[in-house]
Amino acid sequence: MPTRHQNRKTGRSITVIGAGGNIGSHLVPHLARMANLTRVTLIDMDSYQSKNLSSQDVTQGSIGKPKALVQASRLKAINPALRCEGIVADVRDVPLGKIRADVILACLDSKDARRVVNQIAWRLGVPWIDAGVQADGLLVRVNVYVPGSAAPCLECSWSDADYATARRRHPCQAAPAKPAPTDAPSYLGALAASLQAVECHKLLTGQTAKALVGRQVLMDAAFHKHYVTSFQRNPGCRFDHVTHRIEPLRCKPFVMTLRKALDGFSRDTRKGGEAVLSVEGKTFVFALACPGCGREKPLFGLTGRLRATDSVCPNCRRVMLAAGLNARARVSQSQLSDRLLDRSLASIGFRAGDVLTVLRNGRERQFEIGR
Ligand SMILES: [Zn+2]
Ligand SMILES: [Zn+2]
Repeated sequence: MPTRHQNRKTGRSITVIGAGGNIGSHLVPHLARMANLTRVTLIDMDSYQSKNLSSQDVTQGSIGKPKALVQASRLKAINPALRCEGIVADVRDVPLGKIRADVILACLDSKDARRVVNQIAWRLGVPWIDAGVQADGLLVRVNVYVPGSAAPCLECSWSDADYATARRRHPCQAAPAKPAPTDAPSYLGALAASLQAVECHKLLTGQTAKALVGRQVLMDAAFHKHYVTSFQRNPGCRFDHVTHRIEPLRCKPFVMTLRKALDGFSRDTRKGGEAVLSVEGKTFVFALACPGCGREKPLFGLTGRLRATDSVCPNCRRVMLAAGLNARARVSQSQLSDRLLDRSLASIGFRAGDVLTVLRNGRERQFEIGR
């Protein structure tokens, strides 16, 4: 399927989210052997523990090491020509531009994380393939989503109960909570990974008609039944189904100040109101307060990008939180002091690949830093 990001000369690219787990660790060797694939980005926030040996494709020597880096080394060992990057982070904290690829593969074990990937895929306009296992029923499932305003998304089939199950992450939480392990047997993860690789190969080679676009395949390995279900766009879906047209913002985040960035956004449209800046999924933090002793620490940064040491109360060692006016979804020049405006984008927590939303005169535009 031709996608916007496809480049025949340089080959295809894939991003795997949850790359080192029960499904992801079995998927990686398939990707290393896929023809015409030249770039793979592996994202996983966890490190291997000895308990993973029974359910994941990992060896003793990798215990204690970050999953994303272990799997990136495996890819390189099988196919040294591949450009691989392992990113050890929660996907919410990875700049959107770093996730862009021809296909995004999700090997996750929580509804909350899948919902985040669904939104990322739609914003980027990149097809995504979700895989899941259910150990007690010996069930394996793969869904293929291709973003579009009329195409079904993950949330189109969600009920109120699904939303209730999806864990909410407190916007002020400094460190993401880890999902509960599924403890699915190794062979079940391997089955899901194979099905996911089959669909990925179809998308990469343009076999759209054969691919499970807008559909789900469910394999019941207990009774050897195989079901394919089609989904429709739900007009009542809670997700907005918006894909961004992301424009490049050629700048170095270590050099460009917030003032210069906001000035630039205010200049490049017709005269009128000032630019209001936001970053999807992130909040601007102006101060942290300790829920234990009440100590307050002024700072300026983005949620998920604060240093761990900044979030610990120096008095009582509890995790400090931002609340009320100290956590704002959007900022404009007139709300910020000269001292904050003269900070570099990098010192605030912005990185190359981050996508900024600029609202001015009622019109929204998206810019990717450093592209
Ligand atoms: Zn939807
Ligand atoms: Zn305290």
